Amino acid sequence: MHDFVIIGSGVSGGRIADELTAGGATCILLEAGQAYDRRSFPPNEFRGSTALFWGGGIEVSKDARFGFIRGKCLGGTSVVNQADVDRFDDFAWDTWRDHTGIDFFNSGQMAEHYDLLDRNTAKGPIPLEHYNRNAKLFVESFNKCGYHWQPIIRAQDDCRHDQGSDCIVCLGGCPRDAKQSTLVQCIPKARERGMELEVEFEVDFVEDHQDHVRVMGRQRGMERSIVARKGVLAGGAFGNTRILKRSTSMAKDLPALGTAFCCHPQFMTFGAYDEPVDAHKGPLQSVQAHDDSLRRQGVKLENVFAGPIATAMLLPGFGREHHRLMRKFRYLTSIEYATMDEPLGKIEVTKSGKIIADKPLSASDKAKLKRGLEVTTELHHAAGAKEVIHCDQGFGLHLMGGCPIGLDAKTSVVNSDFQVHGHPNFFIADSSIFPRAPGLNPSFSIMALSVRASRHMLGKRPSERSIVAMGGAR
Ligand SMILES: Cc1cc2nc3c(=O)[nH]c(=O)nc-3n(C[C@H](O)[C@H](O)[C@H](O)COP(=O)(O)OP(=O)(O)OC[C@H]3O[C@@H](n4cnc5c(N)ncnc54)[C@H](O)[C@@H]3O)c2cc1C
Repeated sequence: MHDFVIIGSGVSGGRIADELTAGGATCILLEAGQAYDRRSFPPNEFRGSTALFWGGGIEVSKDARFGFIRGKCLGGTSVVNQADVDRFDDFAWDTWRDHTGIDFFNSGQMAEHYDLLDRNTAKGPIPLEHYNRNAKLFVESFNKCGYHWQPIIRAQDDCRHDQGSDCIVCLGGCPRDAKQSTLVQCIPKARERGMELEVEFEVDFVEDHQDHVRVMGRQRGMERSIVARKGVLAGGAFGNTRILKRSTSMAKDLPALGTAFCCHPQFMTFGAYDEPVDAHKGPLQSVQAHDDSLRRQGVKLENVFAGPIATAMLLPGFGREHHRLMRKFRYLTSIEYATMDEPLGKIEVTKSGKIIADKPLSASDKAKLKRGLEVTTELHHAAGAKEVIHCDQGFGLHLMGGCPIGLDAKTSVVNSDFQVHGHPNFFIADSSIFPRAPGLNPSFSIMALSVRASRHMLGKRPSERSIVAMGGAR
């Protein structure tokens, strides 16, 4: 019997697989999606959307107001995300600590986990000389309007920008293995240490049998069952909530299951210019807002662009008007605004297993979105855009909550040792445990929480440094 069965291979599952195998545990990793690598990633945006994401690209909220995006492939969303890595600031940790009463939610105690990741992850800013025009205009507009900005730190190795690489393709999987996804950084090492891997294995429900756990699912149409001493749920906000809701003997003890769903609702705004901008060329993103006032207002701004199919979906209008805007593709800049939303959403699962994600917006959420729109409009005009185009369709790329962490089993699902309340054989440390939206990019903190949780799984105290360094032979 394996020590651990890990469900999901994304930011958390892949990281935990690396940590547990390095700590000497035997593991089996189950992933619903297919395995691709740099040689086999789908060749274009359309095929990438259908092959690498749940729902064939997009799932929508109950009222279809928001589109939700999450990766479904070996490496999970770490393969298709933008790899921006932020440490949470005091504002985020204080909000979490005040809400949950969990003491280690503070910059000081989380620092050792971030530091470990810093030492073992290739990451850094895009060199100034490689900024594309989209990034340069972002910086210009911030300087003119008096907002503060900073270079984005991206978890990537050598993207070969000096050789003219266009990084937008990496949203469909990095063809250079530069992006530090779990597919590149964690899973190969865990495999070398003997971890078993099953892909195209979608878990339906789990059972806690006190001295072991059982995981039931389907692999390429065949029913499968896996037994291990302990289980790690790393299927993300939607994945974990769905599995636990369908695990009826556990769900009945978890009144908070499916609550606290939040997603950093985000909208794209475009500026149109007379000269080509070619925002799709070079590094995908280089800069983001770093402005205390915007942070306190719950508004997050990034310099990012989308491929032609995604841009066609984002741009408003129909027929001639849409055609007119699409013809401007090379002449567009874009700024994405996202908000630190209230965790009022709910994730439900129908009897047939369909996920229904309700994402209401509070008055305060709406005020933040209004502010985001105002600021981005101001910025586009300041940079000299001839036309500013707002997109009506909102998106959630940071799916969080559903299994919130906390001390009270009535209002949370996971305890401060990352165990499911009442079911200590099951651990969770991924985006589903977020009790609140941090208003910052989540994945670096998911990694840090996963490192910390792995120590609990291995029966070590969080401060024990027995897990040496990721990357080395241990
Ligand atoms: C396009 C995009 C860009 C993003 N850019 C950034 C960024 O730049 N910086 C940042 O910090 N965050 C970014 N994010 C968000 C970030 O990637 C996620 O918050 C993060 O990946 C969540 O980690 P996770 O481990 O919880 O889930 P995931 O990484 O999504 O992993 C969950 C895994 O579990 C698998 N799974 C789910 N259900 C089952 C099941 N029933 N059986 C088996 N397997 C299952 C999934 O297929 C998936 O592989 C981005 C997200 C998207 C969509």
